[in-house]
Amino acid sequence: MIFRKQCRICKNKLKKIISFNKIALVGEFFKNKKKNKKYPLSLNYCVSCMHVQIAEIINPKRLFSNYLWETGVTKANHKIFEQVVKSYKKKINHKTKVFEIASNDGSFLKFLYQKFKCQSVGIDPALNLKKKEKKINQISGFFNYKESKKIFKKFGSFDLIFARNVLAHVTDPNEIFTGINHLLAKEGKAIIEVPHLLPIIKNLQYDNIFHEHQGFHSIKSIKDLCERNYLKLSNVELISSQGGSIRCELKKKNILHKESKKVSNLIAYLFFLKEYNLLYVYLKRGLLPPLS
Ligand SMILES: [Zn+2]
Repeated sequence: MIFRKQCRICKNKLKKIISFNKIALVGEFFKNKKKNKKYPLSLNYCVSCMHVQIAEIINPKRLFSNYLWETGVTKANHKIFEQVVKSYKKKINHKTKVFEIASNDGSFLKFLYQKFKCQSVGIDPALNLKKKEKKINQISGFFNYKESKKIFKKFGSFDLIFARNVLAHVTDPNEIFTGINHLLAKEGKAIIEVPHLLPIIKNLQYDNIFHEHQGFHSIKSIKDLCERNYLKLSNVELISSQGGSIRCELKKKNILHKESKKVSNLIAYLFFLKEYNLLYVYLKRGLLPPLS
C-alpha cells in the first residue's frame, strides 16, 4: 500500500478531512476471518484545487484484475444504457467508432453493437470478465496514455469515447484525460460518468468511501482535468446512478461545433457555480452539511 501525499490532479498538498481507521477491501471475501486483512483509509482534500480523495492506495492489479462487479447483471444498468443512447443516437450509426474505457464484461459495447452495428473497442483489466464477443474488440489492461498510443496505432481515432464509473478508481486521472485526448477524433465526444461529490457530502454517503474509490469528483475537478489536458467540458447532466452521478461531455479544445455550443456551456457553467459555492461551504465547515 502507498500513502499519497500529493493531490492526484494537481500534485499540491493534501489536508485530512476524516480518518476511517482500518477497513477491509470490499471485493475480497474469505471464509477464514483471519485472512481478511484491513488497511487504513482516510479522506482528504487538496488545499489548492479542493479535489477530495483518499490517501491510501492499494495496488490496482489486486483490486481490479479479478473484479466481481459485472455491468450486464443488473436491470438498472440496462436502463442507463438506454438513457445514454437516447442522448447520442443521432450521432451513432454503423460507421461510428466507439471506444469504452473499463468496458467490464463488454455488455455496454454489445448493446451499442446490437442497436447500431457500430465499430466497438473496449479496454478492461478484469481478466475474469473477458468474454469472447466476435464483433467487439476487447483489450485486457489498464487505460493510460501509453496504452492510448498503442490503441491509436491499431484502430486510429474514435468518434465516441465512454468512461462510465471508472474515473473514481484510477490513481492518476490525468492519464485517462491525456489518453482520451490522444484517441478522440477532431469532432468526437467523450462521455464520462462518475459519482458526484456533492450528494456524497450532502447525504452523508460514507459507504461510498472505500479503497476502490480513490477520488470523489465534482464538476470543478472534471473542469480542472479538462483544462490540464487540452479538453473542454461542453455539457453536464445530473443523473441518478450510484446515489447521484454526473454525466460529463468533453470535446477537444479549439474545435468549433455547429450545435448550440453556448447553451450547453452555460448549463455546465451554472452547475459548476452552484456546486462550487456549496463545496466551498462544506469544506470550510469540515464537510458537515447544514442541519436544516
Ligand atoms: Zn489538487
